[in-house]
Amino acid sequence: MKNALPILIGCALALPATPARATGDTEPGVVIVNARVLDGTGAPARKVRVRLAGDRILEVGGPAPRRGETIVDAAGLTLAPGFIDTHSHGDGQIFDLPDALADTSQGITTIVVGQDGGSPYPLKRFFRRLDRHPAAVNVAAYAGHGTLRDRVLGDDFKRHATPGEIEEMKTILEKEMSAGALGLSSGLEYDPGIYSAPEEVVALAKVAAASGGRYISHIRSEDRYFWKAIDEIIEIGRQAKLPVQVSHTKLAMRNLWGKADRLLARLNRARAAGVDITGDMYPYLYWESTLTVLFPERDFENRDTAALVLREIAPADGLLLTQFDAEPSYAGKTVAEIARMRHSDTVTTLIDLIRMSEARRLETGDGGESVIGTSMREPDVERLMAWPQMNFCTDGYLEGPHPRGFGSFPRILGHYVRDRRVIRLEEAVRKASALAAAHMGFPDRGLIKAGQHADLVLFDPATVIDRATPALPHAVSAGISRVWVNGVLVYADGKSTGERPGRVLRRAAGA
Ligand SMILES: [Zn+2]
Repeated sequence: MKNALPILIGCALALPATPARATGDTEPGVVIVNARVLDGTGAPARKVRVRLAGDRILEVGGPAPRRGETIVDAAGLTLAPGFIDTHSHGDGQIFDLPDALADTSQGITTIVVGQDGGSPYPLKRFFRRLDRHPAAVNVAAYAGHGTLRDRVLGDDFKRHATPGEIEEMKTILEKEMSAGALGLSSGLEYDPGIYSAPEEVVALAKVAAASGGRYISHIRSEDRYFWKAIDEIIEIGRQAKLPVQVSHTKLAMRNLWGKADRLLARLNRARAAGVDITGDMYPYLYWESTLTVLFPERDFENRDTAALVLREIAPADGLLLTQFDAEPSYAGKTVAEIARMRHSDTVTTLIDLIRMSEARRLETGDGGESVIGTSMREPDVERLMAWPQMNFCTDGYLEGPHPRGFGSFPRILGHYVRDRRVIRLEEAVRKASALAAAHMGFPDRGLIKAGQHADLVLFDPATVIDRATPALPHAVSAGISRVWVNGVLVYADGKSTGERPGRVLRRAAGA
């Protein structure tokens, strides 16, 4: 395949193969020549040289390479700021898979973890461990509301928190914020967040706001109570006076299909009224979560609820179990297939499956199930993708069951930009880099500009495409040629280089 692209790392003189890490004044740096440079602002590409020195971009459009400098000839390729994944589940495996191939192979140079209300605790220790054992990519984190609830309420979480408990959570959150959390994340469709009163979340969001932080949320409902959940996040932004972001924005129920314009109008109205609300999304028609999330009242035995799930949210042949520890032979099969195997109907089967995984959860503490559900429509995905305030994410694991973990950004560039022409390439790059940096509060990443950190991706807009599928979720994308993090090459010619220059991105003062 045309994955190995015609790149030459030519050395003008005998030089180390990896870029110099000291400052450019004293040591020769790297010059990338002949690239079409998209700087992340949304401006058209320019053919200019980009010179790196140490971990920074030294100059853009400077003079020809000098003796001693390493030349990267990028003829025919496009150079962009490294992509920023604003909703990553990489925290689970980052110490086991520090090369983070899922990320670097799609041009991602920074991941933002601690999502959906769940974060490593305490963040101070997680960050210190990452400082000592860096990954190939930069890592920033939110402090999770569910994690705070877990610390304070423990197993007794199926209720509102008391004022005293909210005070305790606020104290813990303050510590997480001073450790460098970007803000507060929530997962209000999951346990334990689903049992919180809106006032509890507002009270905590105010703590994040007091430290200049943000709020990011898997909102309280992505299907039946969607509009109420959108109103709730807008209200949190209004009351707590901080930027709020809707995680993995989607229209994932039959009666929400075709309502993208209505959603965007509501978000734009909130913005016009002074609420800094933004969103991120991944480019697939199917999500990945648990079966239990489909039952917001947790009425797992209710046949009417199960029937509604299969009729309105995801059909039985669109619910694919990717993991099912209670009966491992069901993994890789849809609920429709399992119903046939069990000589049963799909409603009964869905109820039976949840009963099995809940029994397992009571026994082992983990239901051990994961499902991919097909609930979205292409026109809605395209309308949302084009919203100027929508940046991109993977919502992926470093080795997870959904192809989004390996394929999201190349899929946007190949399928949605080149093939479907949903947005222009320069706009897609802006959303993947500078817009995401603005939404996360990273002041010196996301642009190709002198002084910025040298997080860069070199790719071929003509061939870039995702290859990961539900059957092969870890297939590496095509068309991503080279990726640098803090000036160091981390991915080239389809492979990790083994370098791990990633840093912890603690919340910047005043960002
Ligand atoms: Zn989520």
